[in-house]
Amino acid sequence: MTIGVLALQGDVREHMAALADLGEVGRLVSGPADLVALAGIILPGGESTTLSMLLESSGLLDPLAAALTDGLPVFGTCAGMILLAETVLDGRPDQRRFGVIDITLRRNGYGRQVASFECDLNVAGIEGPSVHAVFIRAPVVEAVSPDIEVLATLPDHAYTGGDVRNVGGGRPVVCRQGPVLVTAFHPELTEDRRLHQLFVGMTKGER
Ligand code: GLN
Repeated sequence: MTIGVLALQGDVREHMAALADLGEVGRLVSGPADLVALAGIILPGGESTTLSMLLESSGLLDPLAAALTDGLPVFGTCAGMILLAETVLDGRPDQRRFGVIDITLRRNGYGRQVASFECDLNVAGIEGPSVHAVFIRAPVVEAVSPDIEVLATLPDHAYTGGDVRNVGGGRPVVCRQGPVLVTAFHPELTEDRRLHQLFVGMTKGER
């Protein structure tokens, strides 16, 4: 079983390292031929507008959209989450997205780079200590459809970015809908592999 990592821009190496730590075979996906026979694919954190342009120029946009619509398991972190969302507020007008998870999010909703922050989360289905989460110019989830499983929300007072924004506790930050898993933060930037493990389980038909 091979799991792809979209390798156009962003935290590609970090996701490949996470897969290797779990004993999984990762494949860099930079063109349509790389999509063949994948068990799942990870869309990394990075910059969603740049990823959108590179998806078009690489020829990956349409075949990847088709694979995702067909139910290929996918894990999107931060910019990857933006690419997967149904509705994106404050995106660039020409920004493309796959729309395979029924959430509405606001790009850069926690503020600018200086308003990045870290906190500890309880994630449903993940045993043991809380998950340390790194948020970097992260999207804010503004709404989720009733079909979405919210696996983690932002704790009260976690947001220390200091921007004058209404992003208090309770915002969903880990969501799942069928074969689609998204995090507003970057699990690839810490040593904790439990969210990647959760996704690997999804590629093997576990819940
Ligand atoms: N703000 C970025 C975007 O719009 C995402 C940031 C990230 O992935 N750390 O794509």
